[in-house]
Amino acid sequence: MSKIDEIKQALVAATPGPWEPAEPDNEETDGIILWAEVKDSPGSYTGVCEFHPDTFVKDEDVNLIAKSPEYIAYLLKQVEQQPELWDCPSCGFAFDACHEDVDPVTGEGNGNYTCPLCELIEVEQKQNQLRKALRDALKLMDKKHYGIAQKNLVEALAVGQEGEGNQ
Ligand SMILES: [Zn+2]
Repeated sequence: MSKIDEIKQALVAATPGPWEPAEPDNEETDGIILWAEVKDSPGSYTGVCEFHPDTFVKDEDVNLIAKSPEYIAYLLKQVEQQPELWDCPSCGFAFDACHEDVDPVTGEGNGNYTCPLCELIEVEQKQNQLRKALRDALKLMDKKHYGIAQKNLVEALAVGQEGEGNQ
């Protein structure tokens, strides 16, 4: 069971909030009692816990305990609204998996998620291969007859290279 499931179960099993701290109005105790309204019986209350009168308890601590069902429910909701993160097995980058890969045959999502970092590296590798092929072609070219093609290749090689320390 995940920690989140454990927290959910504990919240469901506990007396439903809100819990209201109240000074006792009877002579049986001098402690602070946390009360919760009984769900099926509006207007009647059940005790959640009592702070022993001999124990010093800060009001802030009582407040935090009293608010805990509301706070935990709020935090659980926040956690569940977070996008699911995937850890890339290749590079370890954690990425938000809202963009499912599309199967080229069916056009439907195929349940896989491409790591954007690995994808970027792959694109850069392909670009470098293409650049190398273009440079090789340029070297082999007869400049007198293929001047226009040469100009196009030089321009293609310059794309995306502005300001980069190119080797
Ligand atoms: Zn990766």
